[in-house]
Amino acid sequence: MRIMFIDAPVRSPRSATTLVILASLWLSLAGNLTLWKNLYALPEISGWDGLGFTLVFACMIVCIVSAVLSLFAWRLTLKPMITLMLLITGFATYYMWMYGIVLDTAMTVNVLQTDVREARDQLSWQLFLTVFGFAVVPAYWLWQQPMTALPWTKQIARNAALFVASLLIAFGSVQLIFQDFASLMRNHTQLRHQINPLNSVNAFLQLTVIPSEKKEGPLQPIGEDAKRADNSSHSQHKPPLLILVLGETARSQNFSLNGYERPTNPLLAKEQVTSFTRMSSCGTSTAESVPCMFSHLGRQDFANRRHEYENLLDVLQRAGYAVLWIDNQSGCKGQCDRIPNVNTSSLKIPEHCHGDECRDTVMLARIEAEMAKLPAERLKNGAVVVMHQMGSHGPAYFKRTAAEFKKFTPECTDTSLAQCEREQIINAYDNTIVQTDFFLSRVIGWLKAQEKTHSTAMLYVSDHGESLGEKNIYLHGLPYRVAPPEQTTVPMITWLSPHFEQLSRVNARCLQTQRDKALSHDNLFHSVLGLMAVNTNVYQRELDFFAACQAR
Ligand SMILES: [Zn+2]
Repeated sequence: MRIMFIDAPVRSPRSATTLVILASLWLSLAGNLTLWKNLYALPEISGWDGLGFTLVFACMIVCIVSAVLSLFAWRLTLKPMITLMLLITGFATYYMWMYGIVLDTAMTVNVLQTDVREARDQLSWQLFLTVFGFAVVPAYWLWQQPMTALPWTKQIARNAALFVASLLIAFGSVQLIFQDFASLMRNHTQLRHQINPLNSVNAFLQLTVIPSEKKEGPLQPIGEDAKRADNSSHSQHKPPLLILVLGETARSQNFSLNGYERPTNPLLAKEQVTSFTRMSSCGTSTAESVPCMFSHLGRQDFANRRHEYENLLDVLQRAGYAVLWIDNQSGCKGQCDRIPNVNTSSLKIPEHCHGDECRDTVMLARIEAEMAKLPAERLKNGAVVVMHQMGSHGPAYFKRTAAEFKKFTPECTDTSLAQCEREQIINAYDNTIVQTDFFLSRVIGWLKAQEKTHSTAMLYVSDHGESLGEKNIYLHGLPYRVAPPEQTTVPMITWLSPHFEQLSRVNARCLQTQRDKALSHDNLFHSVLGLMAVNTNVYQRELDFFAACQAR
């Protein structure tokens, strides 16, 4: 009898090609659960035909992923590349499944611009589990596998063969289902942003390697001729002071001023405000909307612009006004680069700040001190102060409100919205609107107190809206063409003091008759210039929504 010693099993090395194929299968099939679920829900996809279509579609994705990975199929690069794709796919799967978001370029910009606090808001054990299951476990397995070492000439031949074969099969698959595929992509354009991990790869390339037609050359000045109107009314009156409140994630339909059945605007309802009901946003995310809102270009032209231009605040400053940006959020997205600005979001003022976040009222606590730093020769002409709110930023809506504004209960207190009843999510969101109502009424209160020395006004407008579970979609950031009105219809509220009405010759009662007019962020640039009586060649009176109520 022989005694056998059993060694620990020696793992046979795997070729780069095998690893590429296994990774492509996992990334494409498991990493696209959301896509399969959404495809299955489409009326076009049903029965055996639908199953056949889905299989060919899946084969196509596997081949394209394998073509991409074959470019990295070298000993030093393959494992890191697959690991990166696993992680991206793990995170993407979680957000796509939970919130119905898609990964296009705009969403990727948002992710890259997210600050630590926003990221912390979104951490949950479901996120951890998803990433663990989709990415960490397969990555662990991957790093356990030894890889065969081939001479580089052989490796290059194999990689090239894999690349070509993958593309040929992908091309063949498209041919098989071309008619259905083309019409599906035409009718459901958002699908192309749901294909993991190709959506992330595409967005990354769009942002980095693929030369952008935008941002060519130096910043283009605009409104170089800007001057404050030299009319008699300005010399007789106290200088204007406009607070432009830049709202966050507020959607129009949850404002009781706009007909919402819940009393979300108890304080503003007592003020002489005008609430516009049909204002549409320029984008569906902060990164997309904010630069567009301050631009002289409309939504279309802004998206197609070839250069970066100066913005509304540059023109106001050039006209001689003091301009200030107070930011209680993650930054001004480049809009305050050439004007005085301050961030209040991480101050430690006990009355306004809790933990690592400050309520929007902190901006009022700081405004006088910050305005005092502005040049006196500008202040005497008047001032425009932008206040960038934290507002209704999700998904942790419950963190945005102080206890006294939690009117609607129970609230969803889980950052993973899918864990909550829809009513609780809406309760938590509505409370943020109540908090904003309080903040805006405090802004008006502060402006009233400045009337001794200024003619004051407030203009509030949100950057984009929010989905709260309508058609199972949450949060915001869907591509504009397919975004639901909840994400693109935003509140806009104006308040003009009697002094300001005289100074600007804008009649606030007349504005009430205009409140249901269809407007958009395209109007903002021109309306603020009109309200602040700035004469310049970039001003277009037909886009100024105050003009209809302004005595010439
Ligand atoms: Zn936003």
